[in-house]
Amino acid sequence: MVSRVIPVDRFDLVIFGGTGDLARRKILPGLYRRFLAGQMPEGSRIIGAARTEMDREAFRNFVAEALDEFVAPGKREAAVVARFLEGLDYVAIDARGEGGWDALAGLMRKDVVRAFYFSVAPALFGDIAERLHQFGIADGDSRIVVEKPFGRDRDSARKLNAVLARHFDETQIYRIDHYLGKETVQNLMAVRFANILFEPLWNAQYVDHVQITVAETVGVGGRGSYYDKSGAMRDMVQNHLMQLLCLIAMEPPNRFEPDAVRDEKLKVIRALDPVAPEHIVRGQYQAGQGQPGYLADAENPASRTESYIALKVQISNWRWKGTPFYLRTGKRLRARASEIAITFKEPPHSIFEQEEGWKENVLVIRLQPNEGINLKVMIKEPGPGGMRLTQVPLDMSFAEALGEEGADIPDAYERLIMDVIRGNQTLFMRGDEVEAAWAWTDPIIAAWEARGDRPKPYDAGTSGPEDALMLLHRDGRRWREIRE
Ligand code: NAD
Repeated sequence: MVSRVIPVDRFDLVIFGGTGDLARRKILPGLYRRFLAGQMPEGSRIIGAARTEMDREAFRNFVAEALDEFVAPGKREAAVVARFLEGLDYVAIDARGEGGWDALAGLMRKDVVRAFYFSVAPALFGDIAERLHQFGIADGDSRIVVEKPFGRDRDSARKLNAVLARHFDETQIYRIDHYLGKETVQNLMAVRFANILFEPLWNAQYVDHVQITVAETVGVGGRGSYYDKSGAMRDMVQNHLMQLLCLIAMEPPNRFEPDAVRDEKLKVIRALDPVAPEHIVRGQYQAGQGQPGYLADAENPASRTESYIALKVQISNWRWKGTPFYLRTGKRLRARASEIAITFKEPPHSIFEQEEGWKENVLVIRLQPNEGINLKVMIKEPGPGGMRLTQVPLDMSFAEALGEEGADIPDAYERLIMDVIRGNQTLFMRGDEVEAAWAWTDPIIAAWEARGDRPKPYDAGTSGPEDALMLLHRDGRRWREIRE
């Protein structure tokens, strides 16, 4: 299969927070890979802007080191790296001060796409937005990219939206959720809406339940005190898991266009039922595997913040009434694995006598590792021993099915940044979507805070607290195993 890379228009991309961790690990290496692939046209420029005093050369060295660390050796071609570095510039700027802004204004070109990546703390969004206008750096065609967290409740999200709206139209604002940039997540839409096969079965009549799992092996050490103010519900469920749930549950949009897709996602969020306390399990990992427990990592021995959460979520609409969506996410779990599993109901009547080994069809969408889609179907066990059935996977792992191109799936960040330059907002969250997601999340958090609930301890390297198993057992179901 021939890889098709369509170059975007020439651009000037300013990365506020260009010396930060996210820029170093994701944004800059991602841009380099797009440059190498031929998607980022020559003459495009990336301008780092951060508080650190350094000149252009020092920034180029900083980026060269980041590429050494975060780009696979096979992709670091010296000549290409040198050309990429040539397109880099740097301005020392204080988001809250006046210095550096005139210099930045002087660097920006009028005849290219202008984009501004706010890879800084959300508290600085307003200051940067304001100065971009005050100094005549941004105009009505410019785009801004903002990082998570987008607020910590509906009120703060609303305020952030209002701050940005003072200077930018909604069509210029790209709220990033990197889960939406994953190849398989977009494939979820392709599988649903480009095939006749699944959509007729995609409802409560045929789907028994859905499981969404985002499991991590890392703890919160290093950013424990920051994480402790957030927790798994705010850090993962309100954004990433909610977005995945929306893509599974939404109605087909009439076109694959930003507002058509986002309107449908918003309807799902608004149809989510409140979650009863007995349908929520929160957990905190304990010390183990030679690592400290959550309380030590968070530097807060009295913390009631969850590093794990499992929820049973119901959607009150015609399509999904009665089909539970079980969500879970946590740190220091058995394996790093993210997947969506759609379990279909059993056939209404079995013509086979076999009672054991009978399993339902499951469509598994793996987000990481090994992105791919896998459909479990029942077939006849080979051989002459009568009609015995067994379950086998119909596997579509991209690396195999798509050859070289499949093996070289762009990282979510690089795809999304290219979408910003293209001006395509489909895979970005709209302001009302984020607020609606918080409107669902807020009362759930407020209720457990009011009850003074303590998270259940769980051992590091396991699947989470025992109570989470019970959440499904009570319904006669089981979680899928967490494994890579
Ligand atoms: P960081 O602390 O590593 O870097 C912050 C950057 O902002 C630095 O370049 C710093 O110089 C700059 N900065 C700080 N104050 C400034 C000011 N007053 N004026 C100008 N520049 C200033 O942070 P990070 O981890 O890179 O995160 C950046 C943003 O991205 C945050 O909002 C974070 O929540 C979000 N985020 C980060 C990650 C990640 O993996 N690091 C993942 C998702 C979201």
